[in-house]
Amino acid sequence: MKDASEQYQRCAREVMQRADDLAVHTEGSGVLTRTYLTPMHHAAAQQLSAWMTEAGMQVRRDDAGNVIGRYEAEAGSPLGAPALVTGSHFDTVRNAGKYDGNLGILLPISCIAAWHRMGKRFPFPIEVIGFAEEEGVRFKATLLGSRAIAGTFDGKVLANLDEHGSSMRQVMQEAGFNPDRIAAAAWRPEAVSAFVEVHIEQGPLLLNENLAVGVVTAISGATRFMAELQGLAGHAGTVPMHMRRDAAMAAAEIGLYIEQRCSGQPGLVGTMGILEVPNGAANVVPGSARFSIDIRAEQDAVRIAAVEDVVAEIQRICSKRDVQIELRKTHEASSVACADQLQTQLAQAIASSGLPVRHLPSGAGHDAMAIAAIADVAMLFVRCGNGGISHHPDEIMTEEDAATAAQVFTRFVENFVA
Ligand SMILES: [Zn+2]
Repeated sequence: MKDASEQYQRCAREVMQRADDLAVHTEGSGVLTRTYLTPMHHAAAQQLSAWMTEAGMQVRRDDAGNVIGRYEAEAGSPLGAPALVTGSHFDTVRNAGKYDGNLGILLPISCIAAWHRMGKRFPFPIEVIGFAEEEGVRFKATLLGSRAIAGTFDGKVLANLDEHGSSMRQVMQEAGFNPDRIAAAAWRPEAVSAFVEVHIEQGPLLLNENLAVGVVTAISGATRFMAELQGLAGHAGTVPMHMRRDAAMAAAEIGLYIEQRCSGQPGLVGTMGILEVPNGAANVVPGSARFSIDIRAEQDAVRIAAVEDVVAEIQRICSKRDVQIELRKTHEASSVACADQLQTQLAQAIASSGLPVRHLPSGAGHDAMAIAAIADVAMLFVRCGNGGISHHPDEIMTEEDAATAAQVFTRFVENFVA
């Protein structure tokens, strides 16, 4: 057992060091920003390839820019046996943390390196994917890498432009990839027995409960709206309260209703992330207001019921206040459930490591969502510190938690049943 714990600690040290090393490949000095197919993104891909090769994997890149390492099955295994697939993304948001995405590539590489040193292989191949794009920063389209592999890449986004006016198609060609061959990057469902993604939680639950890891139950579905309210502007000193058609106060009442409706139900959250009074002034009753709504839940029925209530309440508030509303739905995605049998196997790996098993939904989207189109998926969440902050340079995790995650991932793979 002592040997095994040394193995996980070595793995954890390597993961933490490499997260630092990978962060050197950034477009901004002093901050981590790595967007799709820039020279720094390419340098990170080369670094990942080198580490995969060193860990005993054969490495290839597809035409979406994904970096894929394959650790072959043991000799005598059936030819073409489906692979156990893992991985996450190596692009980042602007001014990002070092672990979002990257952890889910670095941790499996280090676990495989340990097996490689021991000469240990499995009856199935393991594939580690560094997804080239998940965050949607450069071309305002998300999950590009995982969608290419799932065969759900939408060719229309090739026309999207970056902030310098270059199209995705043009950028791909300049980087040496063939945008017309993205369809060929798709994997057959028969080639994958399961997909398991390791990712930092990006929230405070594990931290608050003093747990290093958790099993994701589902990636929450989401509905988003943009709303424009039109009331009547007037002088802040002369229009009596009972005669006002204040658009900002209607928005405020709607916001408080959303907060109340989405409270107290596990897995349901509602947010008004944009709330503006265009051209507002201190001495003017707001004639217009603009806001966003984002409602998410682990279960689609829970989200849909909340959305219906919110829309009905918006109509009631606006008619009571004689304010006109234009409500536009801008996004809708169903929840993606993690496979029960994979959750069970992850839970066993956690329990057999002597740790309590905590199940939790993911409120954020992940590559696993896209891969669910071709395979059963699961996710292992790892605690992050600083209140659970992510998409920010203050995003942190500990080496100790990396060791725990390495132990759980290792046990999961060593006992994996398709
Ligand atoms: Zn991520």
